Amino acid sequence: MTVMKFKRNKAQLTENLGSREEWKGWWESYGSYRLRPGNHLWLCGGDEVHVHSIDGVNESLIEPVVEGAQSLLDDAGMVFRAIDKGYNADLDCFIKSWMEHSKIDTYIGDEINDRRQESGNTHADIVLMPFHLYQGKSCPTWAWGAGCHVQGCAFIYLPGDRQEDRNRDFIRKVAKHETWHLLTGPEHTHVYGVEGYDDVPDCITLPGCSTMDICEKCMDALKSYWKSLEANMGKKYFR
Ligand SMILES: [Zn+2]
Ligand SMILES: [Zn+2]
Repeated sequence: MTVMKFKRNKAQLTENLGSREEWKGWWESYGSYRLRPGNHLWLCGGDEVHVHSIDGVNESLIEPVVEGAQSLLDDAGMVFRAIDKGYNADLDCFIKSWMEHSKIDTYIGDEINDRRQESGNTHADIVLMPFHLYQGKSCPTWAWGAGCHVQGCAFIYLPGDRQEDRNRDFIRKVAKHETWHLLTGPEHTHVYGVEGYDDVPDCITLPGCSTMDICEKCMDALKSYWKSLEANMGKKYFR
């Protein structure tokens, strides 16, 4: 039996599951549980994931981020398209001022979500930045990114020598991993034991993954979750 433990505003799976069907069913119920008025705005209309840089980031690094994001969207057969939007002066200004004035208990994703709501914009955003974002608590310096599904945004952290050309392939993997979080939320799926799936040595949903591949178990999670969003939102998210 699936036990749901409610922690803050998030349902968490707290025990192993016995079959693929239970796993898919849990993700479907998670999809319905997660929907909240005012959130998920990015799912309402458009089908675009905008990829931007701010000042201090080499704009040529937007390309591997677009490729990484699009790779997961294509693997899943989703309608969304990742688009290179170049340098974004508005986000540059907003993020810098937010870093200066943010309170300890605020999350920048909420503010970006609110700003989109005011302007009636329904895309998701991925932003490349030359520092670690301060998000209520200091971000660990080993982190390469963060992604948030409910607010529809992800961040790629590229301070110092991370912008060197030799990191392009790794940045593509980071982008695909953060797009996983953009699509599903905070889950690192491999912490959940589920009977019926083969153990895989590596998968894009694992932190620090060395592959661009996503395993069957994670793909089933993503697809089941989005099927329930389709039903709840009355939209088509798969091609
Ligand atoms: Zn992660
Ligand atoms: Zn996996």
